[in-house]
Amino acid sequence: MNISVEPVTAPRVATTESIRLGLVEKLAYAVGKDPEHATLQDWSVALGLLVRDHVVDHWFAATRAGYSKHGKRVYYLSMEFLIGRLLNDAIANLQIEAPIIEALGELGLELKDLLGQESDAALGNGGLGRLAACFLDSMSRLAIPAYGYGIRYEHGLFRQRFHDGWQIEEAEDWLVSGHVWEFERPEVKYTIKFGGHISFDGQGQTHWHAEQTVLAVAYDTPITGWKGAHVNTLRLWSSKPTEILDLRRFNSGDYLNAAEKLIRAETISRVLYPDDTTAEGKELRLKQEFFFTSASLQDLLRRFLTEFSDLKLLPDHVSIQMNDTHPAIAVAELMRLLADEHRLPFIEAFEITRKCLSYTNHTLLPEALERWHVGLFRKVLPRHMQIIEWIDYHHLAEVQGKGLPVSLDAIRIIDHGAEIRMGNLAFIGSKRVNGVSALHTELMKQTVFSEFHKIYPDRIVNQTNGITPRRWLYECNPPLRNLLIEAIGTEWIGNLEKIDAATAFATDASFKEKFAAAKRQNKLRLAAEIKARLGITVDPSALFDVQIKRIHEYKRQLMNILETIALYHAIRRTPGAEWTPRVKIFGGKAAPGYHIAKRIIKLANDVAKVINNDPIVGDRLKVAFLPNYNVSLAEIIIPAADLSEQISTAGMEASGTGNMKLALNGALTIGTLDGANVEIGERVGPDNIYIFGLTAADVADIRIHGYDPRPTIEGDPVLAEVMRSLVSGEFSSDDNGRYHGISDVLYSGDYFLVTADFQAYFQRQRDADRDFRDSSRWTERAILNTTKVGWFSSDRTIRGYAKDVWNVPVA
Ligand SMILES: *Cc1c(COP(=O)(O)O)cnc(C)c1O
Repeated sequence: MNISVEPVTAPRVATTESIRLGLVEKLAYAVGKDPEHATLQDWSVALGLLVRDHVVDHWFAATRAGYSKHGKRVYYLSMEFLIGRLLNDAIANLQIEAPIIEALGELGLELKDLLGQESDAALGNGGLGRLAACFLDSMSRLAIPAYGYGIRYEHGLFRQRFHDGWQIEEAEDWLVSGHVWEFERPEVKYTIKFGGHISFDGQGQTHWHAEQTVLAVAYDTPITGWKGAHVNTLRLWSSKPTEILDLRRFNSGDYLNAAEKLIRAETISRVLYPDDTTAEGKELRLKQEFFFTSASLQDLLRRFLTEFSDLKLLPDHVSIQMNDTHPAIAVAELMRLLADEHRLPFIEAFEITRKCLSYTNHTLLPEALERWHVGLFRKVLPRHMQIIEWIDYHHLAEVQGKGLPVSLDAIRIIDHGAEIRMGNLAFIGSKRVNGVSALHTELMKQTVFSEFHKIYPDRIVNQTNGITPRRWLYECNPPLRNLLIEAIGTEWIGNLEKIDAATAFATDASFKEKFAAAKRQNKLRLAAEIKARLGITVDPSALFDVQIKRIHEYKRQLMNILETIALYHAIRRTPGAEWTPRVKIFGGKAAPGYHIAKRIIKLANDVAKVINNDPIVGDRLKVAFLPNYNVSLAEIIIPAADLSEQISTAGMEASGTGNMKLALNGALTIGTLDGANVEIGERVGPDNIYIFGLTAADVADIRIHGYDPRPTIEGDPVLAEVMRSLVSGEFSSDDNGRYHGISDVLYSGDYFLVTADFQAYFQRQRDADRDFRDSSRWTERAILNTTKVGWFSSDRTIRGYAKDVWNVPVA
């Protein structure tokens, strides 16, 4: 259509007056409520809709500019986007907070009450999904024309509740009270096929006769960049049936079966699998991966073909990033679309594919590298099975032709005819493959992809993860944000490396005092939250020791709990000694099928109950496990932290991003030389971080030579006493045997080397106790953590991808 309506040119301006009038109007005509009867939720929706109008003005401008430049677009494919709430994020990025607060005041409302009404979009499990969300923010900040592509799960990550200390999972329903940020696009839909068989006609054409077809329907959410300079789109796919209802069956009275197809189709985007390490509900999971990947590739090809006609130009205009192997089927699907649908020769399709795609690896844990049984794969994706066989054969021949001394077994996609290795498929189909911290990338070259690295020495690059400073400082920590603005201005918000300018104030008495006051304000806010949610009273002047992340054995929450028990024993022995009061704060969900992780949660809660109720201990030690860790809770906990627990078994945490958020907000890290901790340590300096324990090289050595925990436990009276308390039922008087299993795991092998690192960890904790008592010096070191980690901005990470991987210009 050629419509000659002038587009909105200048984004609207927010004044107190325009906001007040706009709010009342939205409340009436969009929410359908009279101010007299409106609830906080109604006002929150009205405000969301109003702010959205401001976003949309910028959004249109950005989209039009994207089309007029005929440049390159970046497509970020991710199974997860852990975006959290969007209202405050949009207000902050558009810099319209002041008139909103004022207008709300005139209406007798408070912004923070309305912000609390929004549901937290939990379309992810943890770090991988949150990274995708930070990247969207930074791509908008840097005005890179980009789309995020994922799944619009009807139920995001489960809600966690504790019953008698055990984790209970409840269905999450973020869409129930309406989600104002998305625009449904019923006209943007693609057919997605599953199963069936393949036939070849005489004209060299391949036909896929599918057993099931569903529609992928687009829902768009605008992602506002800093100061609204650019707005990108997060396009999430929802699965819908191709036919609404089987009317023949319905008319014959068979209502349930008539609705069957509908249910089967909608199942695909129903739930986020609550596990980012193992593939559960295997067939459905595979269908989800193909569903969003296929829809996204069809969509980007359609967009490309509205501007160009020669598909050979695709790599000049399209860069597709695969966030982990979940979208790795893109390698075969892009080839299928190019060869089967657009009639390109296979070899040409393969060359184009390898120039468009890149792959980010997120883990070296063998059990977490996706593999699919050939039988299942062929059943769900018969044509892709053939294409993968072609790629595997073709690639092998190519490598053999080079005569390099590599193990051909290691580079096969299909492992002994039985399993498809998605990591290998992704590697072979990619232009670049990246790790997410310097250490992880190095280990990738030495382990999982060592043979590939010999063949393609330039393909593996490092892009150390980052976090967006807008959400993770500017929005979540107003006291510190205001202090920084007062001291060094606002440039750091859009360019975090400039925060180093505040280093000069680390020894300035007045700045230090204000920094400590900001921290205290945040600790009071968290203390109130702990009181409200758990009924536990904590002393805001105590050391707030924080471990928040998914519960996993490699992250070693168990080691932290054992250290808590050891400290408890020590306090009880000599309560009159000089103790540094501590509050141990935990947050995190365990995958529902991960029994040991769930028992570790129960242990933390059991230990908390005993310690918090022991009058001998009093305020010297408290333990608080906050339920339902998510982005919004992280935004409250992180600004209040003094000590950040990053204690994974060295070599197992690819990067971590929680470590960066906490350091930026002035927490000192206690951690192993793992993931990005190494790079954080390099920047804050050894005096401002507590490093301990085995290195990745030590761990690799132990993996070869074996480890016997018994002499370590028996040689350390502190640890031995802790172990006895697990077995004696000191924390489980209602069931003495509850932690025998955990004790057994630690005695018999202790794969994650908790006992091996315990003593060094305990010692570093006592160093932290001692240092915290010198509050003036501690504040200086906290300031240096904030000012020295500007490099960990996701803006820096995205600049790296733009230059080394995507080859696109940035603002
Ligand atoms: C940052 C973040 C994570 C990742 O934390 P790690 O400590 O790096 O594992 C997980 N969940 C949420 C909600 C986050 O904000």
